[in-house]
Amino acid sequence: MTGKLTRIVLATGNPGKLREMRALLSGLPVEVVPQSEFDFEPAEETGLSFVENALIKARHASAHTGLPAIADDSGLAVDVLGGAPGIYSSRFAGEQASDQDNLLQLLDQMEDVDDSDRVARFHCLAVWVSHEEDPVPLICQGAWEGRIAHQPSGEGGFGYDPVFLLPDGRTAAQLTKEEKNSISHRAQAMSCLVSKLAVLLGRG
Ligand code: IMP
Repeated sequence: MTGKLTRIVLATGNPGKLREMRALLSGLPVEVVPQSEFDFEPAEETGLSFVENALIKARHASAHTGLPAIADDSGLAVDVLGGAPGIYSSRFAGEQASDQDNLLQLLDQMEDVDDSDRVARFHCLAVWVSHEEDPVPLICQGAWEGRIAHQPSGEGGFGYDPVFLLPDGRTAAQLTKEEKNSISHRAQAMSCLVSKLAVLLGRG
């Protein structure tokens, strides 16, 4: 491919998300720089919805770098828990909780829940802002339905993947990277964003 690459900042410090988003953006004429390469504190996620938090993160990264920014906000919503952990997925077991702590907290809360009530959805809101105050951000959404397993299985992915059971009996952590990146909530949202960006950046 010839031509100048647009430098953009990817507003996430989560290594699992970073890996997946880089792969999903690989077809675009962009140079992706993770926000960890700059010296600023991450945004406080004070929104009440995935889309508000995604925009807060993207605007914050753009403000601190002067670059266009892509951010996603994502999480797991479990029907029987009234949509929890939702926007609090990364801190379900506390502010400093690890992925493992969060997953065990979820299994603990679901201990007595029957198979028929274990339906859950991963949601992802992916956004692009051209600059800090962009009044027309690009916004895309993806959702991926599964069920919560009774125990973790699989080594791949990150977060709640080892307990996110798919219709074929595997968990999201048992998919290959390519499989997950072709069907996940993030894959759906990012593929929509990539199509919009291809037009915006003149390759559509
Ligand atoms: P965020 O960084 O505020 O968007 O938090 C996202 C959190 O949701 C992650 O830390 C995970 O706990 C969970 N999550 C989001 N996407 C995935 C996924 O693809 N697999 C497993 N867990 C996920």
